[in-house]
Formats: sequence, C-alpha cells, structure tokens
Amino acid sequence: MERTYIMIKPDGVQRGLIHKVIERFEQRGFYLKAMKMQMVTKEHAEKHYADLSSKPFFAGLVTYMCSGPVVCMVWEGKDVVKTGRKIIGATNPLASEPGSLRGDFCIEVGRNVIHGSDAVESAQHEIGLWFPEGVCE
Ligand code: ATP
Ligand code: MG
Repeated sequence: MERTYIMIKPDGVQRGLIHKVIERFEQRGFYLKAMKMQMVTKEHAEKHYADLSSKPFFAGLVTYMCSGPVVCMVWEGKDVVKTGRKIIGATNPLASEPGSLRGDFCIEVGRNVIHGSDAVESAQHEIGLWFPEGVCE
C-alpha cells in the first residue's frame, strides 16, 4: 500500500496544530504507521530539502526547520501521496484552498505548518531519511 512522509513543522507544533493534522488524515481514511517528535539538525534539514539548495530562501528555510521540534509521520492508504498534498494545500498559503490545512491555518509561505512528500519516489526517500530505524508493516 502507498505511503507518504508527513511532517508538522516547528510553527505547527508550537501553535498546537498537531491534532488538526492527525484528525484530517485519519478522518479521510488514512492509517498512521509511524510518528515521533524530534529536533532537526541543520545537516538533516539541508538533506531533506536538498533539491531547493540553490533557492534564495534555502538558508531561511533550514533555520525555520531547526527552530523547534517537528512531528514526523508516515501515513498509508490509497493514493495517499497525491491526496495528502490536497489535504495540505498549495505551498503558498495565500493560494491554498480553504478546507486545506494551509488554507485554514496559515498565511506565510515561510511558516506553512506542514510538509508532505510530492511523489511516491520522494516519499520512499524521505521515509528512509526520517525513519532510518524502519517502519512497521
Ligand atoms: P513542502 O516540501 O514543505 O511540503 P512544498 O512541496 O509545497 O512544501 P517546496 O517547493 O518543496 O513546496 O518548498 C519547500 C518549502 O520551502 C515550502 O513549504 C516553504 O516552507 C518554503 N518555501 C517555498 N517557497 C518559498 C518562498 N518563496 N519563500 C520562502 N519560503 C519558501
Ligand atoms: Mg516539497
């Protein structure tokens, strides 16, 4: 079954939105397969967003991701990568549909509450990166 990597970013944790994220994914019918809270090192954040390293906002993005604990999750279910991205909403919250997590809970692209893998291949890569200890079947 398809899996995706979902991460509540430091602002989402700090603002008490963990339960909102879990609720939206659970009520849609997806299964939570793994979850943990941790601080992120600069090196790990740079690895996670390596494809954006040439962007002007990269340094700020890494600082943001290291500014407080994140909640790392693996969710499973039919078409969960694409549907998960819909639940999350567009990258810039000002373009996110109301009803999506970003569309309901934020206004800044640099403080957009949550990450979701953008493809099945990147989901597999990110799950390996964030859960090197493995995830239960
Ligand atoms: P994520 O990978 O976090 O789920 P995304 O796939 O919607 O987000 P990406 O293009 O992968 O969007 O960008 C990664 C993150 O970088 C965004 O979620 C956002 O926090 C930050 N970001 C993207 N564009 C900008 C920008 N123009 N200014 C500041 N931060 C940005
Ligand atoms: Mg992305």
